Amino acid sequence: MTKRQDTRPSRISTEVDFAAKGVQHGHLTIPHSRNASAWGSILSPVSVFKGGEGPTVLFTGASHGDEYEGPIALMHLMRTLDPAALNGRVIVIPALNYPALKAGTRLSPVDGKNMNRAFPGDPDGTVTEMIADYVQRFILPLCDCVVDIHAGGRMMRFLPACVIHRLADRQMMARTAAAARAFGAPNCLVLEELDAHGMLDTAVEAMGTMFISTELGGGGTTTPETLEIARNGVHNILVHFGLLDAPLKGPGKTRFLETPEGAFIIAREGGILEMTVEPGHEVAAGDVIARIHDIDAPAAAPARYTAPSHGLIAHRHDAGQIARGDCLCVIATETDEFDDG
Ligand SMILES: [Zn+2]
Repeated sequence: MTKRQDTRPSRISTEVDFAAKGVQHGHLTIPHSRNASAWGSILSPVSVFKGGEGPTVLFTGASHGDEYEGPIALMHLMRTLDPAALNGRVIVIPALNYPALKAGTRLSPVDGKNMNRAFPGDPDGTVTEMIADYVQRFILPLCDCVVDIHAGGRMMRFLPACVIHRLADRQMMARTAAAARAFGAPNCLVLEELDAHGMLDTAVEAMGTMFISTELGGGGTTTPETLEIARNGVHNILVHFGLLDAPLKGPGKTRFLETPEGAFIIAREGGILEMTVEPGHEVAAGDVIARIHDIDAPAAAPARYTAPSHGLIAHRHDAGQIARGDCLCVIATETDEFDDG
């Protein structure tokens, strides 16, 4: 990738030393001159925990500002992780898109950008692009594994799941699936992204580094269940990679799901959404999954959506209204390809 040869300085600075032992809580200081603050900056928290020799794991949350399991689980980690008990290094950025988290919006209110479409970023670009570039060039090269905690946000709801991608490198695929099993979410989606361009996922995988993500619930809030999965998963990843000598937490067996061709159901009409299935429901080919009603044609039959094949609802549009072109739901299928042994 040409980006790694980019020698332009970042305009982002930090007081933390990624090589130093012990624990440091600091910030990424992102210059942001604006009406309310001529010489202002954005202070996005970053923590580094370094103990003995071992791998480096990066945890990120709030790549989208309306997804809260990541920030809550990672702030818990920042309060409780003891570097003396650690074999390796943990870097935590609890709000990768800090301005978006503060606003409670998916995209940054500063530049309207989607952090998870901004990679590899630009050191001379907007705030979101500067953050992406800093992570790409100064943090990702330090890492052996990146765990990026997402949830459905305000517009989507997922069957709580770890998310990995199908990788060409079979050995990396097996190692990634093993890490996902250790994470311990009840489900793991082996996802074919609709559009992987600009994602942190893509940036990390292009470096040959392991990438684990999640889609935990949604609706723009958390549940006790999704928070427990996130907290346990963070702990379990550290145990899995030998950074912590501790037992795994949580229920254990993960069901692997994949998204074959046609799994993403796209709305062809806009209107009032009536879902007839929920995440976790099984459907057979031909089952009605949704109706979309048009208030301007009140006596007309609603548009009817049926399942193209057998599967499990892994995701649904969570808002009461849907626009033409929105993803209505995802119908995944179970696979035993990644089960242990
Ligand atoms: Zn997200």
